[in-house]
Amino acid sequence: MQSIFYERARDVNHAIELAREPGAKFIGGGTNLLDLYKSGIEKPVRLVDVSRLALSAIEELPDGGLRIGAMASNTAVGTDPLVRRRYRVLSEALLNGATTQLRNMATVGGNLLQRTRCYYFTDPAFARCNKRDPGSGCDAIDGHNRIHAILGASPQCIATHPSDMAVALAALDAVVHLQGADGERQVPLVDFHRLPEDRPDVDTVVKPGELITAVELPLTPFARNSHYLKVRDRASYAFALVSVAVAVDLDGGKLRDLRIALGGVAHKPWRVPDAEAILRGQAPSAELLARAGEAAVAGAQAYAHNGFKVELARRAVVRALQTVIRKAGAEKGTAA
Ligand code: SF4
Repeated sequence: MQSIFYERARDVNHAIELAREPGAKFIGGGTNLLDLYKSGIEKPVRLVDVSRLALSAIEELPDGGLRIGAMASNTAVGTDPLVRRRYRVLSEALLNGATTQLRNMATVGGNLLQRTRCYYFTDPAFARCNKRDPGSGCDAIDGHNRIHAILGASPQCIATHPSDMAVALAALDAVVHLQGADGERQVPLVDFHRLPEDRPDVDTVVKPGELITAVELPLTPFARNSHYLKVRDRASYAFALVSVAVAVDLDGGKLRDLRIALGGVAHKPWRVPDAEAILRGQAPSAELLARAGEAAVAGAQAYAHNGFKVELARRAVVRALQTVIRKAGAEKGTAA
């Protein structure tokens, strides 16, 4: 095992300065990075500890939106009263992820940057993985690919992104705030993760040395009526085979606006604007919900072991929508 340097950053500028060195990595909760380091997949030469930076606040913005510091723990966000009340899908997604111990350590920034759980990536005994070793091939394409992507994959990589939180954020029109040597910038969550294309080793649009400082959620009429449905092999401590984040603005029986995002099906959270368009402005009949489910999996490509995901995703979209529409209607009735 090679030795690494460890330094604790005093503030954001110090962290960015320390991260200028090639091979430097930020470390927050370390729940993914340390696993990958111990198995020799991540090889940082310097760890820049950002866990004690003043980036853990969860604050209401003057315009009614919410700013979540990148060092806020998954537990803190998932149990925050404002998040539970206004952005329910985010709370549900976070509290359905990992275990209590991991949620206490994992941070929002780290959650966005976590890497795929493709077995062929996480186990260096497998020789071919373009994400771990660019140009080596992909053992998953002809291997056991039950957990792999059905949408947006490439001949180079069929891995999925493992985050539940990111799927909820995609349905909430979240924006990621980054800071690096060239200054600050903002990236919509839906553009933050990449599809594999011919560079599956690059997961996100984050530049070397850039630090995630916060995620901001706008105040929208659909965020409050939202829901996360996670389908997995066991009831806890399992990644999603398929997940769906939905948020709806129900007005007099019609869907004035809505968002639908899928997890467990692609290399990034998968928003489905065509499915949303089928329902926008409409009364959500069974026939329209079924059409939205079909549209959500349009273009899906299955491999030897994951064909079940296409039907599972289609049905999960319908069920998630039925659940959130029923809840939204019941709550409006209660309020009236
Ligand atoms: Fe590697 Fe991607 Fe293939 Fe998995 S699917 S083995 S991560 S290249």
